[in-house]
Order: sequence, then structure tokens, then C-alpha cells
Amino acid sequence: MSSLKQHPGEAPIAKSGPQSVKKLLTKKRILETFYKEEKKTIAELCETTNSSIPSITAIMHELMAEGWVSQFGTGESKGGRRPAMFDLNPEGGLIAGIDLSRKYSRLGVFNLHNEEVCDVLELGEGLETTGNILELLKEAFVALWAKHGIDKRSILGLGVTIPGLIDIRSGVSYSYDLFEGRRLSDVFEDVFGLPTVIEHDTKAMAVGESWFGLARDKSNVLFINIGSGIGLGIIIDNVLYHGHSGFCGEFGHIQMDPEGALCYCGKIGCLETIASGTALVKKSREMIEAGKSSIISQLMEKQGGKLKLATIIEAAKLGDLFAIELIEGAGEELAKGMAVLIHLFNPEAIIIGGEMAEAGNLITDPVKQKLNKYTMLRLKQDTKIWLSALKEKAGLYGTLPLVFKHTLDRKYGNGPGSC
Ligand SMILES: [Zn+2]
Repeated sequence: MSSLKQHPGEAPIAKSGPQSVKKLLTKKRILETFYKEEKKTIAELCETTNSSIPSITAIMHELMAEGWVSQFGTGESKGGRRPAMFDLNPEGGLIAGIDLSRKYSRLGVFNLHNEEVCDVLELGEGLETTGNILELLKEAFVALWAKHGIDKRSILGLGVTIPGLIDIRSGVSYSYDLFEGRRLSDVFEDVFGLPTVIEHDTKAMAVGESWFGLARDKSNVLFINIGSGIGLGIIIDNVLYHGHSGFCGEFGHIQMDPEGALCYCGKIGCLETIASGTALVKKSREMIEAGKSSIISQLMEKQGGKLKLATIIEAAKLGDLFAIELIEGAGEELAKGMAVLIHLFNPEAIIIGGEMAEAGNLITDPVKQKLNKYTMLRLKQDTKIWLSALKEKAGLYGTLPLVFKHTLDRKYGNGPGSC
């Protein structure tokens, strides 16, 4: 980059002279428009920002000098010369993401067009498998950056997804002692030296689906994350809902069976004790030990005695009746809970994601069938039930708009949110 074209995250505002609040907000609005809607002409930006052609032309020159924006060919002519098209410069800055789960973690680096600049790296370590996950993540990221020639100074920010209860007022995790009660963003900023945005894992997945997945053109969407637990992400009028303290979406802990099993949350008969990956693994292990015949036993042997939700799904796909019935039973219980969600939220779509999405029709068929039983017809007809298209990458992709917004807020002021 030339001396004029700095990385946007580094470009000090004073370089281009004092700027009015109005100008800063216009710049922010233009960058948000590019991020959401991609290529635009100067005339279109004038309309979006309610500004004159000379003022937007001057601002675009500054944004190009700062490295944020590039020209991308020309658009359709409306009688005269074909107008120049502009968009975010994909090389103008990078966004790093960490999807930190209980048993594994994923790391990725993306450009400003949300494209992976290197393959997403999966580590077989997570919050509950090791005591030094932060050091392992740092080592892995430093190695990844070195391998792909990524200059850390070009990274605008880091997005991190974390499971459990995160208080949005204090930014503290109530689920993991590892962070010693500190604000999570401070912990990660200290370790990585990058401005950091933290989001709850399922909520980040919902954002990913809302921006880049099947829900891209939907405004009111629910996302159900079924893995070891069961979480819910809620998008209302295109905005991620957090609830009063950030704890909303604990869908897995609604009571389904008053006589049921004790949940790790301390309550009895939670949905998670019946329909989560952990519950299915526990049940199949017990049944197999009691003599139940299933392909799961052979798959377990091949995997050194390990039994995961993925093993049960694999067995079900091979036609194993026991595994099919386990997933079917989970789907039926899930549908009872989903019927409540449909009645409360009237969503356009509910997306089923997380590890259970791999089960495909084996999970969606029993869900849809039981929704017929539990949901008012008019509401059910209006709700699509889909499987996640982003699959295991939903959380990582969900960090991208959050970090982009955080970057703009830091640089151009904290106006009304768009993510
Ligand atoms: Zn519970």
C-alpha cells in the first residue's frame, strides 16, 4: 500500500484534517451500505445519505485514500457515461474470528468481502478440554498468520464466540472460571493485542445465518443450535435480541418433563436432558450397555470407544433403527418447544443448526410432523423449518458483521446499531 493507503483500522482521523460529526457519520453510513448491499455508484450513495454529489465525491476520495474503498468497474448507463461502481476494498483490512466451544475451537481470517483468506482452522481443544485454551489459541493464530503471510497490523479486530451465560452489561462470563470474572473482551485484547468483540455462540450463529445464510432476506428468524446443549438465537426486525441481561435464548432449559432427569443447570427435566447431543449420547450408551443391538457399537469400536452425537447420526444414516428412533424422539420433544416459540414469535423461519443439522431429514421430518400436532395451523403455515446452510461455520461468520460494526463505531462514533 502507498503511504496514503493505510489500513483503515490504523488511519488516524486527523490525517485528513478535522472532520465534522456529520462527515464522520456520512462516511460510516457509506461503509455500512457497502458492507450490507455491496457495489454502489456515487449517485446511489447520494440518495442513501441524502447528500450532494460534490460532497459524496470528496468523501469517496478520502475513503479511497484511507484504504477502505476501491472502484469496481462501471454500472449501467442511464443516458450518459457509464457511472463508476465502488465497494469496500477487500484488501483494506482483515477480520479475525474465533469460535470457541466446549470441546473444540475454530479460527479464521476474512477480508472485507467476508471471504476466507485462509482455510478455517479447527483445533480439537476447547473450554472444557484444557486449562490453557487461550495460550493454545494464540499459538495457533500466530502460526496461521505466519503460514499465510498475514500482517497482524492489517487485522481490524477479533470476534470471539463463547458458550454459556455472558452478561452484556458487564461483559463477564458466568459459566467459565478460566476468565477470572474479567470482562471477556479485555481478556482477549490482552492475549491477542486486537480490539475484540465477544458474542454468545448461538447468538453469533444466528447473526451468521441472518447475514450470510438462508435467513439473509428474512427479518424475523429463530436459530436453534443443537450440539452438546440446545440454544436459541433470536433475530427480530433484523436485529439480534439479547434480553435484559444477555441471557435470553436458554431454550434448552425449559422444563419438558417434571419427572425427568436432573439437568446440569440444577433443574429437573430440561429439554437438554431429553433432546441434546449429550442426552442422546447418554441414552444410547446406557441402552447399548444394557444389550441393545445397534451399529453404534461397531462405529464406537472404530473410534476407540468414543461416542459422540456425530456417531449416532452416522448410524442413523446407515439405516440403524435404534439411532433413527433416538433422533426421531429428540425431534418430537424439540417440536413441543418449537411450537411454543412459533406461538410467541411468529417467525418467518426457524433454522436448525449445530451438530444435529448433519442429521438432515432425520431431524426435520419428525419436527415438522409434530409441529402439525402442537401448532396453530395459520402460524405453522407461515413458518419455514430449515437446516443451516453455513453449518459449522455459522458462528465464525457471525463474528464478521459484529467486528465490522465495532470497527466503524470506534473510528466514526457509536451511532445507531446496524447489526
Ligand atoms: Zn437445565
